[in-house]
Amino acid sequence: MREVNKLTSYDSAVRQSPRATARATHSLRRTRRVTTSLLLLLLCSFIASAALWPALGQKRAPLGKVTRPAATTRAATPRAPVVTEQPVDGRKLDQAMGIVCAERGRDALGSSPIDVMQSRASLELNHPEAIIGAQRAKRLLPVAKELVIEALRQLAVENKIGDMELSAAARRVRAVTEVTPDPDLRDNAAVIMNDTHTIRFGTIFLVGLPSDEGMMSVLSHELTHIADGRQNSLQTLFNLIGKRATRLTGLRVNGQKPEELTCDLVGERAARLFIARTPTTEPRAQRLARTLEHNCVDDDETDEEHLSPRSTMRAVLALDPVLARELLATDIR
Ligand SMILES: [Zn+2]
Repeated sequence: MREVNKLTSYDSAVRQSPRATARATHSLRRTRRVTTSLLLLLLCSFIASAALWPALGQKRAPLGKVTRPAATTRAATPRAPVVTEQPVDGRKLDQAMGIVCAERGRDALGSSPIDVMQSRASLELNHPEAIIGAQRAKRLLPVAKELVIEALRQLAVENKIGDMELSAAARRVRAVTEVTPDPDLRDNAAVIMNDTHTIRFGTIFLVGLPSDEGMMSVLSHELTHIADGRQNSLQTLFNLIGKRATRLTGLRVNGQKPEELTCDLVGERAARLFIARTPTTEPRAQRLARTLEHNCVDDDETDEEHLSPRSTMRAVLALDPVLARELLATDIR
């Protein structure tokens, strides 16, 4: 049976969402033109690498692969300094993950870890906290849509792919108008491809994400699935990010995992943009940590479609050195 709907779960609890459509049509093509300009670029990259991840003390030689860091603004012709991509110090990633989970432990608005949510009894639609959670999701949806589009544009620049595909993706994102609570989804959120105007949220998940930052991260994850659409128009970006994650962390990111990981990365990036644009009196590290805290599981299980929660957190921190650096800086404070 041809699968019409694409049900993509956010966390590792729902296993019913493999895409049945052929997806191998996007081959990753890397040009490897060894030219003088490239050699100069690599030299510049080596110099720039000293500025990247300074807190991580990474001293390995560049691998000759270059990428662009996040653009801070939407410019007509985005330009960003070239940096070298190299494996990240695993001990520093462990440290950053520890900071995220320590912040969660002392934050009244910290997210519930996925494994804790999975163990909870179902919550009815009229549960007071579920109602508050649904209101939060609906309130944040309009800004989440714009920040997802911006995060996707940034990632397109960083990964040096054209943003032509993003126009249609942005239209799909802007067409989302509904957040629907669903007790049966429990600790998951999902989108169904025959109703791309709606994000469905399990009531346990709504309750487990009591902060705007945590909710923004998950909303944006689901919006990224919708941005990809039936056409899988973001598959090239997913593949590039999956391969970057493998190079940076050694994690195996194959099958559906590049898409899920990219959705998590976009979620974190959108939440980080949200934090920058909505100042509060809360500590910045606390707000940043909320974007990843649901991954602070004890039971780090996974499935065929997702990296495990802790591997997801590791990969996102490796893919976004700005986030990791800010968290590590607060640890030194
Ligand atoms: Zn997902």
